[in-house]
Amino acid sequence: MVLQMKIDDELLIGAHTSAAGGAYKALLEGQSIGATTIQFFTANQKRWERKPLEPKEIELWNSTLQETKIKQIMSHDSYLINLGSPSEENLQKSRKAFRDEITRCHQLKVTYLNFHPGAALDTPPEQCLDLICESLLEFESLVAQGETRLLLESTAGQGSAVGWNFDQLAYIISKVEDRIPIGVCIDTCHIFVAGYDIRTPESWDATLHEFDRKIGLSKLYAFHVNDSLKGLGSRVDRHQPLGEGTIGMESFSFMMHDKRTRHLPKYLETPGGVKVWEKEIALLREFGKI
Ligand SMILES: [Zn+2]
Ligand SMILES: [Zn+2]
Repeated sequence: MVLQMKIDDELLIGAHTSAAGGAYKALLEGQSIGATTIQFFTANQKRWERKPLEPKEIELWNSTLQETKIKQIMSHDSYLINLGSPSEENLQKSRKAFRDEITRCHQLKVTYLNFHPGAALDTPPEQCLDLICESLLEFESLVAQGETRLLLESTAGQGSAVGWNFDQLAYIISKVEDRIPIGVCIDTCHIFVAGYDIRTPESWDATLHEFDRKIGLSKLYAFHVNDSLKGLGSRVDRHQPLGEGTIGMESFSFMMHDKRTRHLPKYLETPGGVKVWEKEIALLREFGKI
């Protein structure tokens, strides 16, 4: 029984918590809802101009990190960044902002920097994919200065966003993996609306097989855990609380049981905030009991 508790406690489950009032607050919010890991924004996600972290803030982060024992922390990049932008001005702004993202992750010793691959806007997706690869390769010397791994977020494929199918993710990875620490964070809502079924044991297994065949499971590092308002293949990104969407609760139980995914860190981005996340973290932990 004691051993059982120990194993369950090590499951890395958390949510996207709020860094309002300082980055360390995201850790405290995580602790308050029973999280063992968290995702957060290292700066305001809706603004280009962001001030550098103060040494005091980093100190406070480090001491809170020790206190809370929260691990494998993920940063989510700014919503404004488009590393595949067809506009030269926007592309340069995005690359500069992404460099700042990497620097802040290094300063806070963040394990993963999750980012939206990019949006093609009115250009062909192939061009966008190539620009993303070019952008990533520009960060080679900077990423080498720290421990943070860059994770491509699987997208819903809404509008002109790329990175919604496994072929596109595989393409980017194949072009940069020799020079950049790269991987994938699967968002359960996004892959489902992108057309990958995960609702039954058979479809869950088939989707992971396809991921393995095209990208390789060794490149899968994390999950965003969300149910979906819209249906399979709808390409519309609307998160729902677990069990209240079109994916259904069973799928999250497969994810917590499957040897290929059980140990990976999981971050909730469900609507409802801390009250909902506290319940969902406990539920996922329960599903994960061996
Ligand atoms: Zn995201
Ligand atoms: Zn989403």
